[in-house]
Amino acid sequence: MLSYVTTNDGKVREAESYLGEGVSSVDYDYPEIQADSLERVAAHGARDAHRHVGGPVIVDDAGLYIDGFEGFPGPYSAYVENTLGVERVGALAREDGATRAAFRCVIAYCDGEPFDASPEPVDTGDRRGRDTAAAARGSASTDETVADGELPVKLFVGAVPGRIVEPRGDGGFGYDPIFEHDGTTFAEMRPEEKNAVSHRGRALSKFAEWFVDR
Ligand code: IMP
Repeated sequence: MLSYVTTNDGKVREAESYLGEGVSSVDYDYPEIQADSLERVAAHGARDAHRHVGGPVIVDDAGLYIDGFEGFPGPYSAYVENTLGVERVGALAREDGATRAAFRCVIAYCDGEPFDASPEPVDTGDRRGRDTAAAARGSASTDETVADGELPVKLFVGAVPGRIVEPRGDGGFGYDPIFEHDGTTFAEMRPEEKNAVSHRGRALSKFAEWFVDR
């Protein structure tokens, strides 16, 4: 059985709505390393979660990237939510006219077995297939996700563009009330509506397509 490892109920609701009964959620707080990319955080978390659970796992690391703030808070989104708070981030972005933004989500899969691990985070269809095997052996990259001796991790990235707006809606979690996509904030959507367009839905869809053959 595949385990979706997280302590975030909002993520569990979305993953269950997407993956159905093929996945069970495991409430385990894997250590989140401080890193400047979601990919590194997710890959590290997936390895730790796999060691903890002992079977195939996915973890997901996500962040809000505000264009006018050079992508901030990005991988620091949790820290910023816990310190500044979502409303303040929204207000700062709006005051600054920096309302263009995107959510990104990285799903990291690890089952302890070797496979063509991701040589680097790729979401754009330009995965360098030829390099994956070498990278998985650690010879083609110093990226932590494929470092020699590390458990192989497969990464799936999803992103969605949107706009920072005044908070609306009481669904979802985190930055959802201030993130509008096509006229609706994520907090105004039901989980399945959010999944249909969201960063997490897109990453889960890529993962599900690959996992069917795994
Ligand atoms: P993490 O992926 O659990 O580390 O979350 C990073 C930060 O992004 C936290 O502040 C979350 O609340 C926020 N976050 C993650 N995913 C979403 C989402 O789908 N919507 C809104 N906020 C999110």
